[in-house]
Amino acid sequence: MVSVDVNQCTGCGGCIDLCPVIAISMINDIVTINNDICTECGICVKVCPVRAPNKTEH
Ligand code: SF4
Ligand code: SF4
Repeated sequence: MVSVDVNQCTGCGGCIDLCPVIAISMINDIVTINNDICTECGICVKVCPVRAPNKTEH
């Protein structure tokens, strides 16, 4: 699954528009990934300037 390190995310919003399945939402300036929708494509992991999203094994 892909999860966002809330201590690293700056809330820049850069990843939200790039997610092809709209799995990322912003709540109180921190992004949350809906893992029921996320396809683990890895785009958000690549585009995040502070590397807040991380892909982990199940
Ligand atoms: S890994 Fe891909 S599908 Fe999952 S939240 Fe990131 S951009 Fe969206
Ligand atoms: S690109 Fe990174 S810092 Fe910006 S909102 Fe997404 S996870 Fe947070």
